[in-house]
Amino acid sequence: GSLRFASSFKAADLAIEHNTACKPKPDPSTLLFGKQFSDHMLTINWSEKGGWEAPQIKPFQNLSLHPATSALHYSVELFEGMKAFRGADNHIRLFRPMLNMERMHRGAERCCLPLFDKGEMLECIRRLVEVDKEWVPYSQNASLYIRPTFIGTEPSLGVSRSGKAMIFVIVGPVGPYFATGSFNPVSLLADPSYLRAWKGGVGAYKMGGNYGPTIAVQSEAQKQGCQQVLWLYGEQEEITEVGTMNLFIYWTNKKGERELVTPPLDGIILPGVTRQSLLDLARAWGEFKVTECTIGMKELLGALDAGRILEVFGAGTACVVCPVDSLLYKGKTYQIPTMKNGPDLAKRFYKELTDIQYGHKPSEWAPLV
Ligand code: PMP
Repeated sequence: GSLRFASSFKAADLAIEHNTACKPKPDPSTLLFGKQFSDHMLTINWSEKGGWEAPQIKPFQNLSLHPATSALHYSVELFEGMKAFRGADNHIRLFRPMLNMERMHRGAERCCLPLFDKGEMLECIRRLVEVDKEWVPYSQNASLYIRPTFIGTEPSLGVSRSGKAMIFVIVGPVGPYFATGSFNPVSLLADPSYLRAWKGGVGAYKMGGNYGPTIAVQSEAQKQGCQQVLWLYGEQEEITEVGTMNLFIYWTNKKGERELVTPPLDGIILPGVTRQSLLDLARAWGEFKVTECTIGMKELLGALDAGRILEVFGAGTACVVCPVDSLLYKGKTYQIPTMKNGPDLAKRFYKELTDIQYGHKPSEWAPLV
């Protein structure tokens, strides 16, 4: 109905119920990704009949769902991943949060979930972080991970548009993503028999259904001694993404020019906030060519053989940038000289983004909470 598109919840209607039994905060040096949660959560309910209800911030608690809930059967679900950072000046900042709101909104449209005002959504999230501000680690090696989630809660088994839905947001402190520390290189398994996404599919959306099926492939990579999966696609074995990160190659191209390359947003790539930020920074610097184009495995291995590869790295909210130092492809291991080359560019990106996130460098990209 028209309510689906015409209305939104409003942050001004937020009702806040404070938790009276707050948990002790963990030591920032012991944090594991996604295992600890704060004292509060945000929920916003929607129904076809009543539209959006007032947003609520309330004590962190279990959800109660009808067993036929469409999210549980048909993956009518999408999520976001973003962070809040406590700066050296003790102010808390988000990082380009509107890009997450826009991605979430695109996902809602694709999932036939009700639409909402992105600014109101962001303001609700800001209020949640404000309520749980003591959960933003007092550390520049840690941050508060924010997980907005949108589920269809239709209590019936028809594969049809959900007449009920819920947005909830949970947050929790996180340390460096990789147990080994944030700048250690990873090894990749590139096996063209597995696909993460395909043309005409939903790889460009952060839907839960895209992620569950990757767990077995990640575990296969680990069995073969690799840390992450390099996702390939199509006849040309295009290189697409690394685990849950966008992929960047810094090389000397065939014309002899220094160039930063990442696959284009052609439907099989998740439009990462970090990806966009690296492209924006590199274009603003104007020191080397910046190109969004597809690269096949053959082209990558050819460049590697010719000594033209400087750095290969993943980019995402979890790690900012993550260097890649080897590749297992069709039974053969290829060394990638990323670490031998500094990696100067990956380090420069890392410093630039973390300086903005932790308030060392003022930027419109990092609004205060
Ligand atoms: N690719 C995939 C498949 C992802 O899940 C993510 C994490 N959202 C990314 C790339 C990186 O996106 P972002 O920079 O927004 O974290």
